[in-house]
Amino acid sequence: MLQPGLMMDRPLLISDIIEHAAAQYGDVDVVSRETHGPLFRYNYARCARRARQLANALAGLGLKPGSAVGSIAWNNHRHLEAYFAVSGSGMVMHTCNPRLAPPQLIYVINHAEDEVVLFDATFAPLVKGIAEHCPRVRHWVCLADAENTPAIEGVANVVAYEDLIAPQPDSFDWPVFDERTGAALCYTSGTTGHPKGVLYSHRAIVLNAMAGTVPHVIGLSPSETVLPVVPMFHINAWCIPYAAPMVGARLVLPGPRLDGAGLHGLLESEKVTVSAGVPTIWLGLMQYVEQNGLRFTTMRRTIVGGTAMPAALIARFAEGYDVEVRHGWGMTETTAVATFGALTPADREKPAAEQHAVVARQGKSLYGVDIKVVDEQGNTLPRDGVSQGELMVRGHWIVDRYYKAESSALRDGWFPTGDIATIEPGGRMQIRDRTKDVIKSGGEWISSIDLENAALGHPAVAMAAVVGIKHPKWDERPLLILVRKPGQALEKDQILAFLSERVAKWWVPDDVVFVDSLPVGGTGKVQKTPLREQYGNLFR
Ligand code: ADP
Repeated sequence: MLQPGLMMDRPLLISDIIEHAAAQYGDVDVVSRETHGPLFRYNYARCARRARQLANALAGLGLKPGSAVGSIAWNNHRHLEAYFAVSGSGMVMHTCNPRLAPPQLIYVINHAEDEVVLFDATFAPLVKGIAEHCPRVRHWVCLADAENTPAIEGVANVVAYEDLIAPQPDSFDWPVFDERTGAALCYTSGTTGHPKGVLYSHRAIVLNAMAGTVPHVIGLSPSETVLPVVPMFHINAWCIPYAAPMVGARLVLPGPRLDGAGLHGLLESEKVTVSAGVPTIWLGLMQYVEQNGLRFTTMRRTIVGGTAMPAALIARFAEGYDVEVRHGWGMTETTAVATFGALTPADREKPAAEQHAVVARQGKSLYGVDIKVVDEQGNTLPRDGVSQGELMVRGHWIVDRYYKAESSALRDGWFPTGDIATIEPGGRMQIRDRTKDVIKSGGEWISSIDLENAALGHPAVAMAAVVGIKHPKWDERPLLILVRKPGQALEKDQILAFLSERVAKWWVPDDVVFVDSLPVGGTGKVQKTPLREQYGNLFR
């Protein structure tokens, strides 16, 4: 007969993270860019006190365990306090993506049944437009003091965050409950149909934050200062707001200033050692740094994900600036990071270009996540680095069922990601495409991601998108759509010749279109549907 373990049974709860930080790392800095500009500076002990004040304030507004609180906010200290106060009270922290179109924003706030919405002053015009369509929201709380809280015409129940918490005591008895309770809610960006809600449990978040802090993943510790550019409004900023206090890392929150100059200034002045964000942010930062002949004096590592990180950009960081790029993969449905690339000692012996190519892959699954790729019939494909199929994941922080959905999203106990990938014998995974973006030419796959990355390796290319276009003979053929860097001349023949040297001959796009900009969606990714619609008849 199985023996029951005889250890304490303490639930994994988010409130414990901030209390641990207050007790063990109380004097460690948290630095935050206010929405109106200046830097705000305090520590985990004060963060915890203010989170308790907010928890008291929310209870005072009549919210109960299970109630939902929305946020439309940047990465800043008040948003951080809300992460702990809301989830710690047993309520649901629903982070809204302000880049969603207003009808989608209204949809998610109503679907989540938010009773209070916390917003940054930047988004006051957005609140003005949506408030009357969100009847359940009783209070709109501006994450600012009274002086920096704008009056919003037509919205009566606006209150300044500082006024809300000021009268509250800074002690609060965090409730203890089942670790599988819903803690935070984030909606997918809904490129197909309505956004779908993913309700993260306390357990999922705590386990992911723990798994993410280990040295070969994000690698946080009391000797690191981390700046998450990845937004707190989407996928929990990869759980860095939980992981940093857990291990006593200094935390720097950039607020709304995500331009090259703003980020570089903050990285330098706060002596940041680790940063995290999507490749587009790093492209902007790198351009600024190169144009101004600047350096990174303290940053040693940057964590990227969200879209594929081009090897060319990895090389610029590593060779030009001695900054190690680490590349991870995840999606709204996986709480934060699910797979992660790290170089082994053997990889480090390889020539630089090969090392960058390894980093450009999405890496191995973290402990706690299993991965496999399957064919269209659901058969598991070999881990040979070439057999590609849909990536399936399962694990401690992977969605089972979407919020309010009738049935599970799983297939045979695994979550189908909609990504097309290969897995090498050693377990390294590489994303080749998304199912909706795949290009099948003459029955064979062409990876739009590989083609885009190859094009981005050309020094005159600022942005690249590859879409499959219907073709009378081959079923589909790739079309390359490019944005040139300012002041750069680049013609079709030149980029096609450049690609011919880098990809298989039959992968070379049939045509190239130059545009001024590419359509970008709510999470900063290029939207391919409008491109396919616009150019769909090009090869007919
Ligand atoms: P959406 O892009 O639909 O808003 P998410 O923000 O949840 O949804 O993004 C998840 C998707 O982003 C993944 O399914 C994958 O296609 C893509 N993605 C995330 N990280 C990477 C990466 N490192 N390389 C390539 N694609 C990635």
